[in-house]
Amino acid sequence: MNEPGDSCRRCGACCLQGGPALHTEDMELLIASHLVLAQLITVRRGEMVVWPGAVTQTPARVELVKLQGRGGDWRCLFYARQTSGCAIYANRPLECRLFQCWAPDPLNRIIGQGTLTRTDLLHPDDPVREFILRQEVQCPANRIKELAPHAQPDSAALRELENLVRIDLLIRAQAMGRLGIAPKLELFLFGRPYFIMLAPFGIAARETNTGMRLALNAPP
Ligand code: SF4
Repeated sequence: MNEPGDSCRRCGACCLQGGPALHTEDMELLIASHLVLAQLITVRRGEMVVWPGAVTQTPARVELVKLQGRGGDWRCLFYARQTSGCAIYANRPLECRLFQCWAPDPLNRIIGQGTLTRTDLLHPDDPVREFILRQEVQCPANRIKELAPHAQPDSAALRELENLVRIDLLIRAQAMGRLGIAPKLELFLFGRPYFIMLAPFGIAARETNTGMRLALNAPP
């Protein structure tokens, strides 16, 4: 395991743990097209996340917009493993510019402060806002933390989670279909699907003839 020194040794540990959340200072990167919406992912308020410097997951206190991961994990989209380098180094976001693993205070001071949300990045008249609002009202991410610990086979908690999974999928499908939204924008507009967020709680989803069904994974 890499131990922090007093300068960057380009170990890449920071970039492998997840791309940065964007702050108002990063708006200019989007205006100048150094970043585009299809490279972003929304972490919904209440979604379980590992905050920088923490080791366990806790619910996100605010909605965040982050750079997407790559290859099914949170490794930053712009991290080049071969060179241990950043593909957008000259235009990297604020959190990356502040991050020093040997001196975390500058970054810690801004974590969760002045962060952008998805609606900050959408036109005020964009019709997708209505679908985002429906998602927040009808399937809030914080219900997962409340319900998942009580999920047992055939329990009310598992059935409610199943209903929330279906609502989330329905809202996404309606928005994408009715508004003709490109699939590459889904993670920015709606974050990770609800059923994906259940996996860390040992709850698996499978498609059936009657819709998505949930089941508890067998203990290891
Ligand atoms: S934008 Fe660059 S510096 Fe920031 S996490 Fe990604 S690869 Fe690392």
